[in-house]
Parts: sequence; C-alpha cells; structure tokens
Amino acid sequence: MSSSNNTAPTLSIIVPIFNEADVIQLLAERLKIVFSSAQCVKNKIAHVEYIFVDDGSQDESSMLLSQFFEVGREAKIIRFSRNFGHQPAVTAGLEHSSGDLVAIIDADLQDPPELIWQMIDQWRAGFDVVYGLRVNRKENRIKRIAYWGFYRVYRWLSPIQVPVDSGDFCLMSRRVVNQINALPERLRFVRGLRSWVGFKQCGITYDRPERAAGATKYNFHRLYKLATDGITSLSVRPLQVAQVLAFSYLFASIVLTFLITYRLLLGQVANPEMYLLILLLLFSNSLILFSIYVLGAYIGRSYQEIKGRPTYIIQEIIQ
Ligand code: UDP
Ligand code: MG
Repeated sequence: MSSSNNTAPTLSIIVPIFNEADVIQLLAERLKIVFSSAQCVKNKIAHVEYIFVDDGSQDESSMLLSQFFEVGREAKIIRFSRNFGHQPAVTAGLEHSSGDLVAIIDADLQDPPELIWQMIDQWRAGFDVVYGLRVNRKENRIKRIAYWGFYRVYRWLSPIQVPVDSGDFCLMSRRVVNQINALPERLRFVRGLRSWVGFKQCGITYDRPERAAGATKYNFHRLYKLATDGITSLSVRPLQVAQVLAFSYLFASIVLTFLITYRLLLGQVANPEMYLLILLLLFSNSLILFSIYVLGAYIGRSYQEIKGRPTYIIQEIIQ
C-alpha cells in the first residue's frame, strides 16, 4: 500500500494535545520552519498534513490551533468529548491519518520535529518503522530512573523484541499504520503494538530536551497506569510468577522431607509432629500456588483470545 519510492510520498504528523495552550505558538512556528514548502521539495515530500487530536483540553488549545494552522488544507483537528488519555489520542490520530508516511510527536517539542527528516531517510533506506531513542533526558532524576527501570522490566517481560528508551515518537509506513489500526483490541499501548506488528524497524538516538513550555500532563499515577498497560498488553509472563513460587515451595518441602526422615531414623527428632506440620504447610502452599498458576495459564490464554490479534502478519508472498 505504501507509495513507491519513485513518487513523492505524503506525510501525516500526529500531535496529541491536552491543555497545551502555552506551547502551541512555539509548536506552530517550529513545524512551519521544519516542514516549509522548500524543505518538502528538497526532501521529496508531496504534502504534509497535521493531525491534532485535542484530548478534551479545557484551555484555548483548539482555538489557537485553528488560528495558527489552516484547517482543511494543512491541518485536521479532532476534538474528543472529554479527556481520554494520550494513547487513545494517538490511536485516533493513526485512524484518521491518510499519509503514506505517518509521524507521531508530542506537542511540547520534546520530540524534535527536525528528526523526522532523518527518519524519512531511514524509511527510504528500507525501514518501515523508525523510532526515536532517548539517550539523554532533560527531566527530573526520579522520572528518569523510573523510565529507565520500566523499559528494562518491560523488555525482560516481553515475549518479542522491544526497544528500550523509545516512546511514541516515530515514523511509520502506511502498511504498518494499517496493521496497527486493524488490531481489534481497545486498550492500546501504541509503542507496544508498533513492535508487535513487526516489519523492518530501527531507532535513531536523540537527546530528549525539556518541555518547551507548560507543564507535564503525566503525574506518577498516570505513568504507573501507562506502565502496567504496557506490560499487560504485551506479556502474560507476570501470571507465571505463581508457577515459580509453587516449584520453589515444592523444592523446599522435598528437601525438608529428606532431612527430617534422615533425622527421624537417627532418632534425633524430639517432636516430629511439629516438623510434619511444617511439611504439610509447605506442600499445601505449593499446591495452592500451582492451582493459581493453572488458573493464570487459562486466564492468560483467554486474555490473548479476547484481544483477537491476528495469528500472523504477512509482509510479502514470494511465488
Ligand atoms: N497528552 C494527551 N492526553 C493526556 C496527557 C497528555 O493528549 O491525557 C499529550 C500531551 O499534550 C503531549 C503528550 O501527550 O502532547 C505527552 O504528554 P506530556 O508531555 O505531558 O508527557 P511527558 O513528556 O511529561 O511524559
Ligand atoms: Mg512531554
């Protein structure tokens, strides 16, 4: 579906917006410089369309957007009925995009739009997905440590390869966007779905600057929810924890059984009832944990069935 490299492709740029009035002028100025007609001609891009998804802003964001961008010709504004969240906003943007190439950036200029040109070069080199890898974050230390920890746990728990330290900032080809849009699940952790659909993917590194203006919309609670959404949408491994515990208990009870039997035979145990009780506890704990694991195994599979993702995605058929 993606246009061939000979004809100039069109580009959609998705920007989720939640109470970003402080930054919209800066954003507009920067986008207009980076994606000027001259730059588009130079980089062989036929047309750029901005898709702003106003995620229930209560400030003048939408008004400012229509002031700075020509709605209809250069921009589309999608307004949600209330605040649904960053990931639903990005999802709406993807579903309403029409470009051969689709980029996602944050409104606060933490994702330098200039990098989209480099991403397009990588696309021309044959990559379907080019994501930004944050090497230096100019954010507070606790947030940096939390992000660092999350991405490593996320990678460890993931059944597929996921890049660490990459957010939603990326460029995707039309065929990848179509595949993501076709995934039927409702809870969408876009960067996870992006990894899941496959195709040739690569990252480009960048220093993540501070917010250009305004304040973050993510508090700790929302980040925590995003992290759990991310892990559970990609992995059922946490459900297997009970299995590890069950086998540990079983192992401990078997070792203890041998030890006690040995000491019983030597006549060294004064009160065998107490030891029997401990053994019983260990065995029954192991049984209970094992039953939980069995439940988890079914729940994990039901969860995967409910998500209804395709069994495979074909890149091409050679015949
Ligand atoms: N955002 C959104 N809905 C929300 C929260 C955030 O659309 O409920 C947007 C926000 O306007 C910004 C992007 O998502 O364009 C990232 O948010 P933010 O910069 O506050 O997150 P941080 O960079 O601090 O993690
Ligand atoms: Mg930000």
